Amino acid sequence: MIAAEDIKEIAYALGADLCGIAPVGRFNDAPSGFKPKDIYKATRSVIVYAKRLPTEILFAQSCIPYTHVNALIATEVDRLSLSLSLKLQDRGIKNVIVPTDDPYEFWDGKKRHGMGILSMRHAGYLAGLGRLGKNNLLINKTYGNMIQIGVILADYECEYDEPAIYEVCPQHCSACLSVCPEEALDGTTVQQSRCRELSNFKTEQGFVLKKCWACRSACPNATGLK
Ligand code: SF4
Ligand code: SF4
Repeated sequence: MIAAEDIKEIAYALGADLCGIAPVGRFNDAPSGFKPKDIYKATRSVIVYAKRLPTEILFAQSCIPYTHVNALIATEVDRLSLSLSLKLQDRGIKNVIVPTDDPYEFWDGKKRHGMGILSMRHAGYLAGLGRLGKNNLLINKTYGNMIQIGVILADYECEYDEPAIYEVCPQHCSACLSVCPEEALDGTTVQQSRCRELSNFKTEQGFVLKKCWACRSACPNATGLK
């Protein structure tokens, strides 16, 4: 059986910038239907990794670079998941991939609220990749909120990483809350029905554009802890 460090080395060699592993028991507080064992009953470990995004897109005036990079990085992370899954399989570790974003099934039409089959940002927290900010994003000490997270559920046990203990939100900071043009943030959740108007804006031609990322760019720790 291979060690946790060897799994991380494989993930890094495939292009991951961060990687941590959490025991499945840490996910007991996840909502029913959205726990790792609801996806793959044999899960014993949750392998979480992330790729960083180029940071200057935060400060572009056009929304096209931000939209484009977000689509590309999602594909890159899903490709990384596929490659890592096969390498683990070749080493005798049974595993199941979780998509970094879509597809997902849960949709509350009234609230226009969707949920992935597993919360990537909570998985990131539980595996030591960072902590959740008031803007609802995972903030890593080195890369800030400019990361895209991937997850593999494994029927395998190893040494685990502890959740991060560094502070990501200064006590009096509320920059993300006050900058939101839709008042969609309350410090713990995001009201998707409000955010979606801008973050998933559909053009007449059918393109879906991310026209707002202000809660991301306004964060003093957007590109790493200051
Ligand atoms: S992306 Fe824009 S609209 Fe959505 S929560 Fe952030 S600041 Fe608000
Ligand atoms: S803007 Fe301030 S409150 Fe919001 S996530 Fe960043 S550090 Fe936390």
